[in-house]
Amino acid sequence: MAEMTNPSEIAREALRRLAMSRIPPTPDNYRALYLQITKTPDEDTFPEKSLKAIAAALPRNAPDAARRAQDLEQAVASRQWSRVNQAILALAARNDENRLAWGGVIRDLVTQYGLNHVGLTSARKREALEHVLEASNCNPDLLHRRLMGLIRSWAATPTTMPGSLAPQASDSKGVEPPQSQGLAELLSLLRALLSDGIPALIDDSPSLVEEARGLANTLAHLGSGEAVEPFYKKLMAFTHKLEWLGDDQRSVRIALQGLLQLIIQNIGQLVLDNKWLSGQLAILGEAFSGHLDVRVLDEVERRLKDVIDKQGQLKQGLTDAQLRLKAMLAGFLDRLSAFAESTDEYQAALGECADQIAKADDISELSDVIDNIVRETRIVQETTAASRRELDELRQQVDQANSEITRLQQELALTSQQVRHDPLTGTLNRKGLDEVITREIARARRRESPICLALLDIDNFKALNDTFGHQVGDNALVHLAGVIKESLRPQDSVGRYGGEEFILVLPDTELDGGLTVLTRLQRELTRKFFLADSRKILITFSAGVAQLEPEEDCQTALDRADKAMYSAKRAGKNRVFAA
Ligand code: GH3
Ligand code: MG
Ligand code: MG
Repeated sequence: MAEMTNPSEIAREALRRLAMSRIPPTPDNYRALYLQITKTPDEDTFPEKSLKAIAAALPRNAPDAARRAQDLEQAVASRQWSRVNQAILALAARNDENRLAWGGVIRDLVTQYGLNHVGLTSARKREALEHVLEASNCNPDLLHRRLMGLIRSWAATPTTMPGSLAPQASDSKGVEPPQSQGLAELLSLLRALLSDGIPALIDDSPSLVEEARGLANTLAHLGSGEAVEPFYKKLMAFTHKLEWLGDDQRSVRIALQGLLQLIIQNIGQLVLDNKWLSGQLAILGEAFSGHLDVRVLDEVERRLKDVIDKQGQLKQGLTDAQLRLKAMLAGFLDRLSAFAESTDEYQAALGECADQIAKADDISELSDVIDNIVRETRIVQETTAASRRELDELRQQVDQANSEITRLQQELALTSQQVRHDPLTGTLNRKGLDEVITREIARARRRESPICLALLDIDNFKALNDTFGHQVGDNALVHLAGVIKESLRPQDSVGRYGGEEFILVLPDTELDGGLTVLTRLQRELTRKFFLADSRKILITFSAGVAQLEPEEDCQTALDRADKAMYSAKRAGKNRVFAA
């Protein structure tokens, strides 16, 4: 057979031989066949089996030894020579490190760090430690020596608790095996906490779970002093995030309790119409579907409070209207029966007259009868006319009451939507904006995180209105609001500040990030055209973005954003300026 050179031909042939010879299709077998076809001597085969056997035979009597053996195992499994190399070197360095007695140093360092030394604040200690870490330049020997020096100097300083159990620096020489082992066990506990314990508690925050597992992994590979500092920093950052998450979860719980109380209050009031109930349930359904977030709950709570207030008033109106209607109907029935009675009397009188006519012998008697009939008829006529007048009035009042009830019910159906939102664009109205801005600023201050406020104003909107009419102008506002909502992150908010002006609230965002958001929005608008009478119209806006200063109030920041927006207009529109 001619020698093959084309890699895909060789690969195909290797697969064919694998199938023909019915040997298991493992990567090793495939590789062997591949080398056979290309006539390459199989020199650099990775000796996986032998290395695995070595790793398996390594002692694992201490956590430290077990970790090193495991490292080698993982390096072999990865089939990367560089990792195997590292793992073997780490094994070889074991004796050396034992001499350096890291366990004792860390123990003494932790003990001394925790003591209250006269004139040594923990900030100063941290500074000194950072200095040593930096100055040792990742050299374990140097680091070991300097840390020992540091511990000695701290140990020589008097503590504020005389007679405390502080070990002297000299203790760190000749580490007692049980104590060193204790530290190793502590580290392995920390690792278990990071890889299993914490993730089980925060399973609804996948990014934090990933971070915890990453830290556990790093901890498993913490071999030399060089990796300690970055690990420590990451662990601190992770701890802060956990604290924030805890804060959030607490707030969510409190907000949920508040909500529950509101619902109970509200259901007590819902007695007249099921539509009310469904309005409430729709809002709650919306809030409870998806991820629970304090912002969402806040918003729902506020909305519910408003709706409950409004419904309380409307319900009163509705009850009054219904009571009036009932009274009118009762009056109508009275009138009807009175009318029926009077016509019964009339019938009886007519019957009597008929008898009198039958019995009458002369015309003079008949004239009395006719007088009677005329009198009775007049009475009935008057009663009928009065009844008709009253019935007409009653009907008018009933119609009025009915339309009042219809109006109230329609208003009721709308209230749950319109309280905090602009009815045209569905974005927040000014009241809603005020609340969101106040809340987000408080949150940003609490967390010392940045927040941006942006103000945007549509360019040449008057011309659009004048050319296409007010309705098209309205549609353009709806279109813009839709594009804004689509392009923002869930934690951002947008509200209509005035006619064709919108405000964006961007938490956790620095000025640069805020500018990027607005620029991205400009780009989105060039992709998503607005259609007016089947004509594609490009809506542009000018915007100003301000990052809230530490001591600044929201109105001052908005004023700065406003000034920047006007500068953008003056500079030719369709621009985003930083305040
Ligand atoms: P500039 O580029 O300088 O911002 O000019 P402009 O035309 O956008 O701004 P101007 O303030 O001159 O006009 C704003 C117009 O927006 C005038 C007003 O009739 C219109 N407008 C305000 N609110 C609404 C609304 O709710 N619907 C519609 N269709 N038009 C509105
Ligand atoms: Mg304007
Ligand atoms: Mg404008």
